[in-house]
Amino acid sequence: MELNILSQGTELTLDPSVTWDSVIIGGGPAGYNAALYLYRKGLRPLLLVGARGGQVALTNEIENYLGFQSIHGGDLTEEFHQHIIGFEIDLLENVMAESIEKSDDLFKVKLSNNEVVDTKTIILATGGDHRKLGVDGEARLEGKGVSYCAICDAPFFKGKDVVIVGGGDSAVEAAVDLSKWASHVHLVHRSVFRADQVLIDRLMEAENVTYELGSVIQTIGGENSVEYVEIYNKEDDTVVKKETDGVFIEIGQEPRVDLVKDLVDLNDQNQVIVDEYRNTSYPGIFAAGDVTSSPYKQVITAASDGAVAALTASNYIMKMEEK
Ligand SMILES: Cc1cc2nc3c(=O)[nH]c(=O)nc-3n(C[C@H](O)[C@H](O)[C@H](O)COP(=O)(O)OP(=O)(O)OC[C@H]3O[C@@H](n4cnc5c(N)ncnc54)[C@H](O)[C@@H]3O)c2cc1C
Repeated sequence: MELNILSQGTELTLDPSVTWDSVIIGGGPAGYNAALYLYRKGLRPLLLVGARGGQVALTNEIENYLGFQSIHGGDLTEEFHQHIIGFEIDLLENVMAESIEKSDDLFKVKLSNNEVVDTKTIILATGGDHRKLGVDGEARLEGKGVSYCAICDAPFFKGKDVVIVGGGDSAVEAAVDLSKWASHVHLVHRSVFRADQVLIDRLMEAENVTYELGSVIQTIGGENSVEYVEIYNKEDDTVVKKETDGVFIEIGQEPRVDLVKDLVDLNDQNQVIVDEYRNTSYPGIFAAGDVTSSPYKQVITAASDGAVAALTASNYIMKMEEK
């Protein structure tokens, strides 16, 4: 069988006699790095890229990935992709995993092109989607003042006015981070704070932060970029229009767990629970990146997770073969 299959969609027929060492599901930083580490262990992974680059491909400038002062998400995606292709790692693009079944010692992964592949291990790196508010203007102004990642985008709002939506740890942390860059930060949350007290204390210390609880954003407006929000106060039953330059929506993530939700343990946020070695509760299934319970959802942490999951999978395969 040929190495380095650069298949688009349904064109390629895989050799059914091949048993892969690992099927890596996901073509974000976690999946790409897992493929790299398995390959360098002398193993044969099949990387199911899905959408090339995952969330990285959707990002404008990335300024916190070591080695790149500033890089466009599309360019970083290409760096990842070319690195993997350079090593002739087998990958399928735009082919999704549709189901996973255990069969004796192996897993059977059904693909969206109707093929079924056999593998000794699975590395799940399916990432997640930022939870959306679902209000007018949000989708249209995404990347034009609407952001889902304060850690990533805070410096772009230097000296500007921003609104943060949410009341959990990530929203309050975002407000604290942004207070160091923005001229003014206004936090809006529909109920009471759910964040750690230590974070709330830090928020209260920041002089350029205000907040209102019991309120929701109704509309995000602006012609070519965010210019204002409309805030509905549930108690007073009033709507106030507030001018602002940016809206950070920090109301959590939806991990993509459909494939494994009946196989592995999930936490209350629907994330795949992993230990420090990226083992899931199901032997032979490892998970990495945003889909997992590991904290901090970043490109560099996802890539690092992929490496850890791959090294753990490699040890698992070694033990499997010693039996
Ligand atoms: C707008 C935005 C800006 C960001 N900015 C930054 C930043 O500046 N710096 C930073 O460090 N982080 C940033 N992040 C966060 C960062 O992009 C993520 O933490 C990181 O991409 C997570 O990587 P991942 O590999 O776990 O998952 P993802 O990047 O989500 O990739 C998941 C992959 O899995 C694939 N997939 C899903 N289901 C299947 C399936 N069934 N079969 C096959 N493939 C499947 C998808 O197609 C995709 O390729 C940003 C995120 C967003 C949305």
